[in-house]
Amino acid sequence: STQVQLVRRPEGWPVPEDFRTVQVTLDDLAPGEVRVRNEFVSVDPYMRGRMNDAKSYVPPFELDATMTGGAVGRVVESRDDALAVGTLVLHQLGWRDVAQAPAREFRAVPEVPGGAPSSLHLGVLGMPGLTAYVGLTAVAGVQEGDTVFVSGAAGAVGTAVGQVARLLGAGRVIGSAGSAEKVALLQERYGYDAAFDYKAGSVREQLAAAAPDGIDVYFDNVGGDHLEAALWSFNQGGRAAMCGAIGDYNADSAPSGPRNMFRVVTNGLTLKGFIVSTYGHLAGEFAERMGAWFAEGRIVHDETVVDGVDNAVDAFLSMMRGGNIGKMVVRV
Ligand code: NDP
Repeated sequence: STQVQLVRRPEGWPVPEDFRTVQVTLDDLAPGEVRVRNEFVSVDPYMRGRMNDAKSYVPPFELDATMTGGAVGRVVESRDDALAVGTLVLHQLGWRDVAQAPAREFRAVPEVPGGAPSSLHLGVLGMPGLTAYVGLTAVAGVQEGDTVFVSGAAGAVGTAVGQVARLLGAGRVIGSAGSAEKVALLQERYGYDAAFDYKAGSVREQLAAAAPDGIDVYFDNVGGDHLEAALWSFNQGGRAAMCGAIGDYNADSAPSGPRNMFRVVTNGLTLKGFIVSTYGHLAGEFAERMGAWFAEGRIVHDETVVDGVDNAVDAFLSMMRGGNIGKMVVRV
C-alpha cells in the first residue's frame, strides 16, 4: 500500500519535506477485517490544524505515521459478513491507496445516482455538503428572503452554501472568491446574484457595493478581513455561521482579528461557531433533502481532481492556495 506520512510539523506553509511517501506491506486479513481499494481520498483545510502539535477538536497527526482523513473506496477482500466484496464504503483511512482495518471502521454508502463518481461522497453529498446545510439551518437559522454572504464561495463548502441558501428561500446570495474565473463561475453557474474577487480590492468596499441593503446571514469560511467586512454590512439581528478561518491556517504570526467587534453589540448580532461532526444528528435529514435536490437536478457541483496518492501533498497545498474549484480530491 502506498501511504503518505507526516515526518515534521510544518511552520507556516507546509513544504514537501514535511511529508514522505512509503510502501507498506499489508498483513493477511484477520477475522472481522476488510481490505478496501480507495477510489478517492480527500484533502481538507482542517488537516492543516492536525499537522500542528496543538490540542484541538481532532487530535494531531502522529509523526512518522500514515495520516488519516476522509476516503471512499470499494471492498476488495472481506473477512466480515457485514461488508461483502464490491461494497462502496466511506471511511477515515485516507492518504493511502489501500486501507485495511476491522469492518466497523468502514460505512457502506449508496452508489452515487446518475453514474456520477463516488467522490461526491467526499463533497456535495458528504461532509462539506453537510457543513453547508448545518451552518445555514441549525447555526445561522436562514430565513426566507435573507441576504446571505458566503466567503470561500467557490470551494467545496462554499459552492454548496450558495445553492442550499437559495433552495431554502434566501433572497439575495453574494459570494467572494480569489479569482475573476471563480467570480464568473459563481454568477453564471451557481446562480449568485453578486460575487467579487477579494484579491482585486477592499473586501469591505466590494461587499458594501454588492449588498447595498446589508446582509442578514454570513457564512464565514475565511475570517480576518472577510469577517470584519461582514460585521460592517450586517443588518440588525444578523447571524453568522462561523465555519472556518482559512486565511489564518498557514500564518506564522497571530491571526488577524476583526477590529469592529462592537458591531455585534450595536446591531444585536449572533456569531456562532460550529464543528460539523457535532451535528451528526442532522446527517439523515441532510441526506434526505440533499438527495432529493440532487436527484431533481437542482444541485450543480465541480471537482478538481489530482491523480495519484503520490501527489496528495501537492493536491493539499494547491487547495490551500486556491487551486481548486469546488471539492479538491485525489483519484487513486
Ligand atoms: P475549499 O474547497 O473552500 O478550499 C479552500 C479554499 O480557501 C481555496 O480554494 C481558496 O479559494 C480559499 N482560500 C485560501 N486562502 C485564502 C485566504 N487567505 N483568504 C480567502 N480565501 C482563501 O475548502 P473547504 O470547502 O473544504 O473548506 C472551506 C472552509 O470551511 C475552511 O475554512 C474549512 O476549515 C471550513 N470547514 C469547517 C468545517 C466545520 O465543521 N466547521 C467543516 C468543513 C470545512 P480562493 O481561490 O477563493 O482563495
